[in-house]
Amino acid sequence: MYNKKSVKDIDVNGKKVLLRCDFNVPIDKETGKIRDEGRIIAAIPTIEYLLKNNAAVIACSHFGRPKGEFKPEFSLAQVAESLSKHLNKPVKMAKDVIGEDATALAAQLKPGEIMLLENTRFHAEEEKNDPEFAKKLASMADVFVSDAFGSVHRAHASTEGVSHYLPAVSGFLLKEELDYIGGAISSPKRPLVAILGGAKVSDKLAVISNLLKIADSIIIGGGMAYTFFKAEGGTIGNSLCEDEQLESVLKCKEEAKERGVKLLLPVDSIAGAEFSNDVEPKTFDSNAIPDGMMAMDIGPRAVAEFVAEIEKAGTIVWNGPMGVFEFSKFAEGTRAVANAVANCDAVSVIGGGDSAAAVRKFGVAEKISHISTGGGASLEFMEGKILPGIACLLDA
Ligand code: AMP
Repeated sequence: MYNKKSVKDIDVNGKKVLLRCDFNVPIDKETGKIRDEGRIIAAIPTIEYLLKNNAAVIACSHFGRPKGEFKPEFSLAQVAESLSKHLNKPVKMAKDVIGEDATALAAQLKPGEIMLLENTRFHAEEEKNDPEFAKKLASMADVFVSDAFGSVHRAHASTEGVSHYLPAVSGFLLKEELDYIGGAISSPKRPLVAILGGAKVSDKLAVISNLLKIADSIIIGGGMAYTFFKAEGGTIGNSLCEDEQLESVLKCKEEAKERGVKLLLPVDSIAGAEFSNDVEPKTFDSNAIPDGMMAMDIGPRAVAEFVAEIEKAGTIVWNGPMGVFEFSKFAEGTRAVANAVANCDAVSVIGGGDSAAAVRKFGVAEKISHISTGGGASLEFMEGKILPGIACLLDA
């Protein structure tokens, strides 16, 4: 399912390549300028490979939410400038997406040259995956290369639609995501230890459900753990809880038992009197948190158990922090798990978003095998869903 062709499996020599990138870069609110060029820099290896192999690259991306209209503040022009600086060659910026300017520039584009289309979301047809729009976009090129993992869970014209008109393969960024996340969930080196955390259990139920079928153990921390303790009749004070999920979490526990999957919850927690760093942290058993106290981190005994489990792993997938790691007094659980994941010999795969932010904050990002670039996409990937932007690629 995840064994897809990449740019290296096809001949791009002399071809026009429509390259879907993720140039949805963060912008400084005051200056309107790019705040972090990380996503642009990440796109360079695929682009350089294509240019070196004599392809003409027509890059495209969405950027923000212009809601189907041409709005100058959502123009990709400054991305073209940044890209040009990093590639050390001109990047021709089109004035539109599928209009006269773009099509004329694309028609004249020579092998080894690169241009950038305007923001695909300047057309409402992009998110509607309109076939006519996709066809027009595809008509500029001979091949489609998808390298925007963060968007593959969406069937949009530039992520899926164009594949109906062009042979579609992955770029290097997408290939790495497929290799690592796909590898971890389809043929992991065992034991496969999954670590799930974050605020809401409802966001992670689908992942838990899929991981119950494939993981050897599942570690649950963060705010989502307390719905489990309440469901089992514990007292959790003011800790996060989703009462409408009490039954679902009990079912998860039962299923884990039936399948022989080890489900680890934090035996103790560190709590404070309010959601703040200006409180006195106190440790309690997680099923006996007094009224007025809110659990904001896993406790020392939980850390020891979790770390021992992580040390045995052959493969680790991690999504969601163990507590409110943004507060210094409640960061230790997440820090300890981050260090354990970083220091063990397992293949480690971290979903985007908060757990990625955590390993960077704690300075161990370099020791992680793979940090996903797509939060939502990596979660849906781990849920075992078929992602439209992956399914549409040619099988290897
Ligand atoms: P999510 O987006 O669901 O992965 O949640 C991430 C957020 O959950 C982070 O901002 C954490 O601060 C927060 N979080 C983790 N543990 C807790 C907790 N015990 N209580 C409240 N918030 C939490």
